[in-house]
Amino acid sequence: MLYRRRAEIVGGGFAGLSAACALAQRGWQVRVHERADKLRTTGAGIYIYENGLRVLEALGAYEAAVKGAPIAHTREVRDGSNRLLAVHRWDPSRRVFSIVRQQVINALAAAAERAGAEIVTGSEAVAVEPGGELLLANGERIKADLVVVGDGCNSRLRDGLGLLSTRRYLPDGCIRLLIGKTAGERSGDGGTTIEHWSGSRRVLYTPCSETEVYIALTMLHRDAVAKATPISREHWRRWFPHLEALIDRIGGEGRYDRFELIKLKRWSAGRVCVIGDAAHALPPNIGQGAGCAMMNALSMAVFLERHADVPAALDAWEQSERPLTEHTQRVSVFLGLPTFWPAPLRKLFFSVAGRSRWMMRQRTRMVDHVPLGTVTR
Ligand SMILES: Cc1cc2nc3c(=O)[nH]c(=O)nc-3n(C[C@H](O)[C@H](O)[C@H](O)COP(=O)(O)OP(=O)(O)OC[C@H]3O[C@@H](n4cnc5c(N)ncnc54)[C@H](O)[C@@H]3O)c2cc1C
Repeated sequence: MLYRRRAEIVGGGFAGLSAACALAQRGWQVRVHERADKLRTTGAGIYIYENGLRVLEALGAYEAAVKGAPIAHTREVRDGSNRLLAVHRWDPSRRVFSIVRQQVINALAAAAERAGAEIVTGSEAVAVEPGGELLLANGERIKADLVVVGDGCNSRLRDGLGLLSTRRYLPDGCIRLLIGKTAGERSGDGGTTIEHWSGSRRVLYTPCSETEVYIALTMLHRDAVAKATPISREHWRRWFPHLEALIDRIGGEGRYDRFELIKLKRWSAGRVCVIGDAAHALPPNIGQGAGCAMMNALSMAVFLERHADVPAALDAWEQSERPLTEHTQRVSVFLGLPTFWPAPLRKLFFSVAGRSRWMMRQRTRMVDHVPLGTVTR
């Protein structure tokens, strides 16, 4: 019987599930370990751009992932008095969907299982060795040809391997939640997202399904009143008086996360590779964290198909993919800077950034990239 290479994957998020699909589709015997009792993503909605959508297509998860989700066509930036500061219309040749996160996770999990991967929930990994040995919390030791570490920002396995180079907590963070659409919203334009600014606080309004709107409330990490959950409706109404009706629709839900930036010394050690936020978390200012995670998971499987030697394949993969990921990290951090600027300067920045072709090219380099492993590459 033909020997099938075996991969153990830690983490059932965007990174781990994409890797599971891509490897299983290429003949690997794959098992995903997710420590939670079910596949459950934190956050509420998500933007997935052309690059990430191409990966979902290649993985066979696209149709289910975008079902019922609106194509985002316009993004408005408004000030605290509801005055329009900037309008960006997405080029229709580059698709952008705003989607309920759980729907994408479910689509990836279904595609991985269809490709033959096994997903084990309630299975926590505690350590990994560069030789390909994975230790689970239940004491089981597993030897694999490849271990993929996709366990998110707080990755314990990455830290155990000594791969972390930079972990920078950024000065801002965000509360995310979903609210039900009103009758008017259900029949209205689902493709316009609006970012409202008031001082250093923001309300991002994004329709993300036929029935739900994704709300992201962004603030400085030191802003204890704004980052409290459940949110203080009284304060948010005062900061955004024109959004009173919207704020009143927010109940007790919502979760606060601080933004962070992660860089590694290397993305792999021997037969172990680190993917997704565990390897390269970035702030969400250009909505590319999951996009990068999915692209790099797919390209990793392609490199492993090209090179029989696992450590050599992982080296070649990192050399090929890391520059674009780091560019995306830099642009995303840069676009977060106006949060700390006075309102007039921020207004100037948005108007210049909105018109600058150079800025637009930097911002869309990832979106325009055709990911390795998708139809045309
Ligand atoms: C406010 C905000 C908005 C964002 N918006 C966007 C956006 O619009 N578009 C976009 O592309 N990206 C966005 N991102 C980024 C995106 O959410 C992340 O990049 C993405 O979730 C990373 O996926 P991951 O699989 O690497 O990690 P995670 O989603 O964190 O998944 C890790 C998984 O590993 C599991 N796990 C952890 N430890 C263990 C263990 N020891 N054993 C087994 N399982 C374990 C966890 O339970 C979890 O399921 C946003 C991020 C934030 C904070």
